[in-house]
Amino acid sequence: MDIKKARPRTRINLTSNTDGRQSSRPLRCSINAHPWRLDLDWRWHQAALDFGCMLSINPDAHSIPELDHMHWGVEMARKGGIPADRVLNAMTLPEITRYLRQKRRSLARAA
Ligand SMILES: [Zn+2]
Repeated sequence: MDIKKARPRTRINLTSNTDGRQSSRPLRCSINAHPWRLDLDWRWHQAALDFGCMLSINPDAHSIPELDHMHWGVEMARKGGIPADRVLNAMTLPEITRYLRQKRRSLARAA
């Protein structure tokens, strides 16, 4: 049995936090680009965008050749209507550096 086929899909609530309010901190969601996963399901991409999520696309590679799975994640993001400016992988080095610095600062303020 292929363990990736057997693993249940990730279950998340994109409509609210446990207390029913939207998070004040933007969330990050991952699109798993492995062909047996492909979650977050593209049908939920608009909800993730509406919720304020930044998305990353990861190949879930367990070997060098599996890095090629990235294109499946990009295809799913396109199918789900995710614009490039909401994908962490699509940022330039200065953009991701600025983004992570801002996140670090806002986390430090919240602590
Ligand atoms: Zn994995």
